[in-house]
Amino acid sequence: MSFETAKSILRKEFEQFANSGHTENERFAVEFFGGEPLLNFKLIREIYDWVKTLDLPFPMMFQMTTNGTLFTPEVLEWFTSVKNDFRVVVSIDGDDLMQATNRGCSTTKIPMEYIARNWPNSYFKMTVSNDTLKDYAHGIIELTRQGYRVPSSLAQGTTWSQKEAETYKQELLKIGTFYLENPQYKIEQPFDISFEKLMYTSPIPPKNCGVGTNTEIYDTDGQVYPCHLFLPIVHGSNLKHIIEGIDFHDDASLIDDHCLKCPIVKLCRTCYGYNQLDRGSVAKRDLRKCKMVLAELQVVSSFQIQYYLQNQDTLTKEMRAKLDAAIRAYELVHSGNLKFE
Ligand code: SF4
Repeated sequence: MSFETAKSILRKEFEQFANSGHTENERFAVEFFGGEPLLNFKLIREIYDWVKTLDLPFPMMFQMTTNGTLFTPEVLEWFTSVKNDFRVVVSIDGDDLMQATNRGCSTTKIPMEYIARNWPNSYFKMTVSNDTLKDYAHGIIELTRQGYRVPSSLAQGTTWSQKEAETYKQELLKIGTFYLENPQYKIEQPFDISFEKLMYTSPIPPKNCGVGTNTEIYDTDGQVYPCHLFLPIVHGSNLKHIIEGIDFHDDASLIDDHCLKCPIVKLCRTCYGYNQLDRGSVAKRDLRKCKMVLAELQVVSSFQIQYYLQNQDTLTKEMRAKLDAAIRAYELVHSGNLKFE
């Protein structure tokens, strides 16, 4: 993307946001996303420096999601100088072996300690694959002990066996036990699932991400798309036709009848982009993942109940509501009525 294109996009977006009736504390977020955004560090710096010359009537934040391997001393020095405006998210998949298995590179190239020290709110995002599942707990616990925040999620678009669902459960149990025995560490995804979603009165769950409504992704040529999984590089020349056929504001059109009948649908997150890519419709969820979703809900509902009971003398009203929701979820996912192939 050229600097001129970036400026023209941001001018338009700033004007829209300024006129959107945003609240005083609402921030405008610019995220640099790839590929690997550090391949074009020069443009990131140009955009940031230009934005800082503007007198914007709202707070700004910048974020970059990176694989962390292109941090030269010069790049690190610059990011450090603007650290209060930036959040850095690094994709990392566990210890060195897990990282090599999933990404074919070493964690030694990533200045993790430096990033964590300078951006305490930043995190290292772990994707768990079929190959790294058996070491999942080890990876999370080791990185957490070293002081890193590590939210994690399962890889998309892959087939999971019943045996892997059982392994996932065992690995989650180990992580849950670690969190309960070490309350000094912040709980990260998926252990922070909000079971209060069960209380939604509508039978149709709301869309679980900002695709097509709150998020806009600009491709390198300046064209705008609903999210990074709805880009020409993903869907090819048919993309315009695909997007025209989707109403991202209509929750009912984003879920099919099969999933609407599922008792855990309100707790099941999906990726609409992968649904479209792998199954030809945003409404067709990945049914190969259901048993993993169930395993996760079983462990995490049990974990949250123990977690809140462990702190029951200091529970706020909000935490009590979370405990009640976790108990309700626990009863639902342990009822024995849910069977997924
Ligand atoms: S668990 Fe499976 S069947 Fe249930 S809502 Fe999720 S994808 Fe659909």
